[in-house]
Amino acid sequence: LGASRTLWELIERRAALTPEAPVLIQSADDPADDKTLTFGGLRDRAERVAAGLYAMGVRPGTVVAWQLPTRIETALLSFALARIGAVQSPVIPFYRDREVGFALRESKAEFFAVPGVWRGFDHTTMARSLAEQGRFTVFEAYDELPDGDPAVLPAPPADGTSVRWIYWTSGTTSDPKGVLHTDRSLIAGGSCLAHALHLTSSDVGSMAFPFAHIAGPDYTVMLLLYGFPAVMFERFALPDSLDGYRRHGVTVAGGSTAFYSMFLTQQRQLPPGERLIPTLRLLAGGGAPKPPEIYHAVVREMGCQLTHGYGMTEVPMITMGAPDDTAENLATTEGLPPDGMRIRVTDAEGKELPPGTDGEVRLRGEAVCQGYLDPGQSAGVFDADGFLITGDLGHVKESGHLVLTGRAKDIIIRKGENISAKEIEDLLHQHPAVGDAAVVGLPDPERGERVCAVLEQPPGAPELTLAAVTSYLREEGLATYKLPEQLEVVEALPRNETLRKVLKYRLRERFSRP
Ligand code: ATP
Ligand code: MG
Repeated sequence: LGASRTLWELIERRAALTPEAPVLIQSADDPADDKTLTFGGLRDRAERVAAGLYAMGVRPGTVVAWQLPTRIETALLSFALARIGAVQSPVIPFYRDREVGFALRESKAEFFAVPGVWRGFDHTTMARSLAEQGRFTVFEAYDELPDGDPAVLPAPPADGTSVRWIYWTSGTTSDPKGVLHTDRSLIAGGSCLAHALHLTSSDVGSMAFPFAHIAGPDYTVMLLLYGFPAVMFERFALPDSLDGYRRHGVTVAGGSTAFYSMFLTQQRQLPPGERLIPTLRLLAGGGAPKPPEIYHAVVREMGCQLTHGYGMTEVPMITMGAPDDTAENLATTEGLPPDGMRIRVTDAEGKELPPGTDGEVRLRGEAVCQGYLDPGQSAGVFDADGFLITGDLGHVKESGHLVLTGRAKDIIIRKGENISAKEIEDLLHQHPAVGDAAVVGLPDPERGERVCAVLEQPPGAPELTLAAVTSYLREEGLATYKLPEQLEVVEALPRNETLRKVLKYRLRERFSRP
């Protein structure tokens, strides 16, 4: 099935193999409201939705943006667009006027699908007011979806190499960038993921992250390839969602570092020996740095394996930990690249560096995007050999495992010395009075930049001072020039809504002093 050219071809092949098997299970607050969609149902219903969209004027190549929650109807709309061969631009449901307006303008969307009033926010009114400036048609796609007779539809798209997806990066370092993907690059990403995680048709997956994130279709590709279902949470919250995990016997839970911590917090409220989700065998995620202690805590306390990977909107799956790898590798590396993913670590001039040496991470492979929507942003992002320059820093070990050491934009340059924010963060995470830590460089008239550590403290922990933190870091062997010169303790670090990644630019804005 992995050789399918388009997503629709993959859906048809899977539906022909196991039409009655479930693919998506919607977990509702009340079990009586749970819903299940089968592979055959996905094909048949998505085709009817496609016919409805076609009647509205959606054609191959038409740009359709959607801002919809993690639910079966959203998957149907998305795969209906794949059936037509439209270009879709998923937008995270928590985004508001500024981000949504930006995404719609940039993508030149002709249609925009919204959920109506969702979680107390009126998306339709927001969309209509944005539509006064843009030229797109707003429609609601929550419980009721467009519908029609599939007989009117033209043949499904035959090539998987045209741009059919515009995804938005998290905007961690600057404004979000529109990333161009093809059906083929998404299929390649999903098939690598399934392979790396050693999943089988008897697994039960779960989607707690927004379906509008690139992980949504990527995850669905995995379900189509292997023929197992995933439980979808429209409103993911712990402890409320735990019942859904238990009720549906989830074996693989996913998310990112912040999710692992949320699960651990719940686990710690149970008596020793009692497992939070008894069927869970694997917590798998990625997309943000993971302190090694989290790996050990999950394995020890939750009684399941943890694998963590490296991905980005531009390349949904780059490396992933294999569940049977050593604890050392799983705790301290991002895992191995799948077949077909080439990783090159280079110096700033693009010269390849030997294993073990830190440099820029560059990538080539089928899962790599076509570039950015804005050609100005695409320029210079691929090197002369066609490798994508990621902006991430790290090295490859002799064993082939990738170790990330930070982001190029996350290097603090103090008096001409390069300081890695990650190195300091990793040490801070080991301090018992630190819940989470983010280290940023702030503009400094004398030194260029100065090191500022921003901490979240667990409830009841004694308040830390700059002197206490620097003496701890000094004892841990951190060089003097890397010691923080400013300490801020915050209630909660600013995070994005998707993977709960820390937004460092907000910290820089907030704590820069004239
Ligand atoms: P923007 O590009 O708009 O500034 P972003 O890069 O954070 O935002 P994403 O595409 O969501 O947007 O995130 C990809 C980035 O996340 C990677 O380039 C990398 O810096 C970081 N990342 C992903 N996986 C890991 C990981 N396992 N460990 C550390 N960092 C990771
Ligand atoms: Mg990025």
